[in-house]
Amino acid sequence: MTASLAQRLAKVLRADVMGLHGYAVQPSAGMVKVDTMENPFSLPPALQQALGERLGRVALNRYPAERGDVLKAELARHAQMPEGCDIMLGNGSDELISLLTLACDVPGNVVLAPLPGFVMYELSARLQGLKFVGVPTTPRFELDGPAMLAAVREHQPALVWLAYPNNPTANLWDDDIIDAIIEAAPGLVVMDEAYQPFASRDSLARLQRHEHVLLMRTMSKFGLAGVRIGYLIGRQAVIAEVDKLRPPFNISVLNAEAALFALEHVEEYEAQAAVIRSERARLMAELQALDGVEPFPSEANMILARVPDAAKVFAGMKARGVLIKNVSGLHPLLARCLRITVGTPEENTQMLAALRAALQDL
Ligand code: PMP
Repeated sequence: MTASLAQRLAKVLRADVMGLHGYAVQPSAGMVKVDTMENPFSLPPALQQALGERLGRVALNRYPAERGDVLKAELARHAQMPEGCDIMLGNGSDELISLLTLACDVPGNVVLAPLPGFVMYELSARLQGLKFVGVPTTPRFELDGPAMLAAVREHQPALVWLAYPNNPTANLWDDDIIDAIIEAAPGLVVMDEAYQPFASRDSLARLQRHEHVLLMRTMSKFGLAGVRIGYLIGRQAVIAEVDKLRPPFNISVLNAEAALFALEHVEEYEAQAAVIRSERARLMAELQALDGVEPFPSEANMILARVPDAAKVFAGMKARGVLIKNVSGLHPLLARCLRITVGTPEENTQMLAALRAALQDL
């Protein structure tokens, strides 16, 4: 960058933005990619062909409103949306996190979430000038009930994020503590259920019981990470306000059509999720049997595991062509922790071999 462009930018851009590190994506070409909780399976060839034909007929010359409405109705049915609620779509749930934060962007407002947690809650809050309060979990990554309740009472947060299951720890939170937080919260509470296809419990009943609770889900982990469809369900009055902030055509016709196609073949994706859950059980058993490796309970398509030296194990696995995520630097509680996405059976076998070899190098 020339000195004059740097000066120009310094004059017009926000200093806090210029100081930020953006969301980082690791290069992964040619590797066993088990770093970002994607569904590792593709569609069977016959369905790929049917999807291709379907997308070929999409009206690319038109703005995408109508297909988005059809998709909303189908997702509402898929998620068993309760009476009195409405649904809005985001370009991934990342966009919904940003829009909901923007809707709460009142000077002095606080956004609160347990830590370690999903980085976008904090990033969105900070980018929009809101105060973020992170409440540490217990060392076993359970919600710290007394600390959460004390923080809610002290900071009176406009927005509380509860990822259920949580990322990167993969566990579900204690239901009694969640209910107590919801009772105490003066603002909105979002149950972020990105990993719901792999979990044994969900928050549908909670959404029904409390008008200040929202449910956020995504099609990403289900098998459409590249399509970018997240959805937010809440009382009509709440969704109506947040929806005003949504860019009018945030979901492309191609995204909407691909998502509709996926919902028509939901059994295919559910079968894939079942394989991922059974592979998770296999991986968990194999990891538990490894000397020096401590995996934590998982209700998602990832496993958090503590190893003797996260940086060296990560590098050793990478050198053997397996890409996982070293999360040890994200929070002090995550010291020496790695996050491993559940892949295909073959990928998981390769991952375990690379892990064993990397541990032996230590
Ligand atoms: N919530 C949680 C807890 C996540 O882990 C992620 C992605 N890793 C998201 C939301 C965002 O998902 P997407 O934007 O792909 O819908």
